[in-house]
Amino acid sequence: MALADFPRYPLTFGPSPIHPLDRLSAHLGGARIWAKREDVNSGLAYGGNKTRKLEYLVPDAIASGADTLVSIGGYQSNHTRQVAAVAARIGMKALLVQEKWVDWPDSVGDRVGNILLSRIMGAEVRLDPAGFGIGFKSSWERALQDVRDRGGVPYGIPAGASDHRLGGLGFANWAMEVEQQERELGVFFDTVVVCSVTGSTHAGMIAGFAAQDRPRRVIGIDASAKIDETREQVARIARRTAELIEVGRELREDEITVLEGWAGELYGIPVESTIEAMKLTGSLEGVIIDPVYEGKSMAGLIELVGGGDIPKDSNVLYAHLGGQPALNAYSALFTS
Ligand code: PLP
Repeated sequence: MALADFPRYPLTFGPSPIHPLDRLSAHLGGARIWAKREDVNSGLAYGGNKTRKLEYLVPDAIASGADTLVSIGGYQSNHTRQVAAVAARIGMKALLVQEKWVDWPDSVGDRVGNILLSRIMGAEVRLDPAGFGIGFKSSWERALQDVRDRGGVPYGIPAGASDHRLGGLGFANWAMEVEQQERELGVFFDTVVVCSVTGSTHAGMIAGFAAQDRPRRVIGIDASAKIDETREQVARIARRTAELIEVGRELREDEITVLEGWAGELYGIPVESTIEAMKLTGSLEGVIIDPVYEGKSMAGLIELVGGGDIPKDSNVLYAHLGGQPALNAYSALFTS
């Protein structure tokens, strides 16, 4: 089946905007940097990358007869917030397991930002003390069973909507959208930089671009601080998605690039380069990025451009995947 044949439930405004970051580009003195903005891709609770992925899961959820979307993430999960918004939009309930993925001493971290938004949207939020992990958890299984026990029909969406048969399709579609926007803008993005944790954002892009004629670098920046797991997850989902959309060939190893070096030691804890990247992007461009994901991928981009790994004549597309609501749990980083 070609990508266009998969049912898609529109949740976004349409193609997300692409614009140049000229002051940041001039500051770095290298490649021209552009951003494609998933943080403004939808009117549903601030949007983000999961909203795109969910466009392909919703038809499956509706067809399954489900009445409750069940998902999992950290206290400040952007993903579960987007699941809550989508459930509201399609008239379903949401049951969200929120684990303590980040040992970050914020006294209101379980009340502000994403979790606050999910509660406003009517989701049932379950706090769980379990630590970071993107695999399938017993708490999630329990939540699915609880919905069944109440007479409901759950539809399970794994962490980040990644380890799901259809999880890579949203960003395969993103790759198609980029190709179309390139024609309109008269530019070719030879390098794409994207943050990677649960993997299907990056993996979907790899599969989508693999279906196109012109090769480009799609650089994933690990923000999970578990590089082997991230690489394995991205490779597996990229291959599964490529097969699903009938790319017609095996993906090569060199198409799957996940770099480490900017995640620090722990998921969710910013390091100096993260905070510098946030300040630089904010002060030069008025663009806000978060300390968990985008601050880390931007730190990677800054170093790769600054160090010449990405050549000066490159057009670089930075995937801004959203995530700003989590900033509310990180106010201690910016007190002056
Ligand atoms: N950026 C933001 C803002 C996110 O919420 C996520 C979610 O995990 C990512 C990047 C990473 O995307 P993925 O989990 O698909 O690798």
